[in-house]
Amino acid sequence: MSADVVTKLKDHAAVPGKLWFADGSMTYAQLLAETGRLANALAALGLQKGDRLLLQVEKCEAVLSLYFACLRSGVVFLPVNPAYTVAETAHFMTDAEPALAVVEPARVAEIAGLGARAMALGDLLAMAAGQSADFADPPHGPHDMAAILYTSGTTGRSKGVMLSRENLASNAEALVGLWRFTGADVLLHALPVFHTHGLFVATNCVLFSGDSMVFQRAFSPATVLAALPKVSVMMGVPTFYTRLLADPGLSRAACGHIRLFISGSAPLSPATHVEWRERTGHAILERYGMTETNMITSNPYEGDRRAGTVGMPLPGVKVRVTGPDGAALPIGEAGAIEVQGPNVFHGYWKLPEKTAEEFRAGRWFITGDLGAFDSLGYLSILGRAKDMVITGGFNVYPAEVEAALDDLAGVAASAVIGVPHPDFGEAVVACVVLARGAVLEEAGVRAALRERLAAFKIPKRVLVLDEIPRNAMGKVQKAELRRLYAGLFAGG
Ligand code: AMP
Repeated sequence: MSADVVTKLKDHAAVPGKLWFADGSMTYAQLLAETGRLANALAALGLQKGDRLLLQVEKCEAVLSLYFACLRSGVVFLPVNPAYTVAETAHFMTDAEPALAVVEPARVAEIAGLGARAMALGDLLAMAAGQSADFADPPHGPHDMAAILYTSGTTGRSKGVMLSRENLASNAEALVGLWRFTGADVLLHALPVFHTHGLFVATNCVLFSGDSMVFQRAFSPATVLAALPKVSVMMGVPTFYTRLLADPGLSRAACGHIRLFISGSAPLSPATHVEWRERTGHAILERYGMTETNMITSNPYEGDRRAGTVGMPLPGVKVRVTGPDGAALPIGEAGAIEVQGPNVFHGYWKLPEKTAEEFRAGRWFITGDLGAFDSLGYLSILGRAKDMVITGGFNVYPAEVEAALDDLAGVAASAVIGVPHPDFGEAVVACVVLARGAVLEEAGVRAALRERLAAFKIPKRVLVLDEIPRNAMGKVQKAELRRLYAGLFAGG
């Protein structure tokens, strides 16, 4: 059984002067005191164990304190992307029925208009300032619900993922060991805090190891480059790495203090991996996870970090690749990725039937991702099952075509989708963004791909875009691309 998040917080708070924020603005002892005051404030507002607290604010340090305060009081933490409109947020309000919504001041009236109790984060913090720092934590069990995170909902309604304390703690313990967090590390935190990556992976790794962090409210290449000499580990989404590569300030010297660069939440292209290694001398460690499962696999800390793969299952986590009948497939064959372990969520909030559909016997969770293991045990992700293209009866894995496109000189980024086609059912369509100054003809791209890919995988069209639509975590919004180009082959 893993140590609880709050136990870890209290252990480190007992060490005088131990820093939570590396700039000295907060020690673990001060963090514990702040969480005590916040937990008392939540109790004074009438929130009880199991109640939901919806938090929708711009990234700031207090989000982490409130997360820990909720864990101390047993209130279920429910962070929401601040980019969502009030209309979008209404779904979370009616679905999760939070006892309190903590929002930006400009939103209080509108959110309260949805029938919920709402207050500004600043007002909650002011109220907490007048409370005692001593809080009597109620008893907690490992399977108590810690948080609900809503899926990004690119298809259909977004679902509330119920995560237990054990889900979070077991994953933090596995990652701290695997990635060799020392207690003397300093993590650069430039990720959003409403998502599993920035909220759980980054924050809990720091907490479980007793490390400190440099907390940045937003990502920018300039602020990250300025902070690199003060940190030892950086976690990022692939767009962090591509945007840093576009900055002339990125160099071997700029990364001289870094122990480890980690990437996840979306595929890191092998080209980016190689370019990063050449520019900085560091092999980015890529890992794979999702909101429902926390982290699932990781490339090794020691040993080969293989570009285009997401490595091996974490300690204590089991992964299998299955065929349509649910039977495990042999090594090398592509199929559905399924996961089992203490990291796997308890279910979708208020959706027991949807939950049951996504699990097989033995609590194997069907991730919805497709992948294959190689003979050395490395897993490769071939894309979301719903993004697979079936053209003329053949399956095409977008990731394979994207890798071939990304290898072409002049292609900066690519996204491959299936578009309705009168003959083929679906046609493979490539959307590409060109490198600055590059000129590529559609016919030339198709000809170059023919040297690498079977004919049925060659895109019927190659569209050059200024930008590929991505969400806040850098994930390509394929549903949006499919919608935009749905009519590409209509009428002929
Ligand atoms: P989310 O729940 O928002 O974290 O999204 C999880 C999904 O992101 C996974 O199911 C994968 O499709 C994708 N994902 C996460 N990490 C990686 C990775 N390293 N490579 C490819 N896809 C990834």
